[in-house]
Amino acid sequence: MKISHIEHLGIAVKSIDEVLPYFENVLGLKCYKQEVVEDQKVKTAFIMVGQTKLELLEPTSEDSTVAKFIENNGGKGGMHHLAFAIEDGVANALAECDEKGIRLIDKAPRNGADGKHIAFLHPKSTAAVLTELCED
Ligand code: ZN
Repeated sequence: MKISHIEHLGIAVKSIDEVLPYFENVLGLKCYKQEVVEDQKVKTAFIMVGQTKLELLEPTSEDSTVAKFIENNGGKGGMHHLAFAIEDGVANALAECDEKGIRLIDKAPRNGADGKHIAFLHPKSTAAVLTELCED
């Protein structure tokens, strides 16, 4: 697979509205888009930092995996996942990971936020960091 850069860092938060003033008023960054991803039961907010993004993830339901992550993290959010931009196809990258014995969360690419094709790798196989493969 060919990774071009870190596409985004996912940060789990209890409330996007509560943390946005920190990113916008203190760090001087701009949130350019908010979007609900029904599939993953999250509301997302995107902030551009150079060519990398921050993806804030707020659960929209108690059975969202992000809600469980926050609960397991003492009720606080925090760094949730790392997303790599894949140049030569998420399906390709997934097949390669599978072949190399990496545990996959998604067997096939699916539609993520921000119009991307995405797939997650299991943290058990990825240095304990939930990892997302992502392409436009
Ligand atoms: Zn993500």
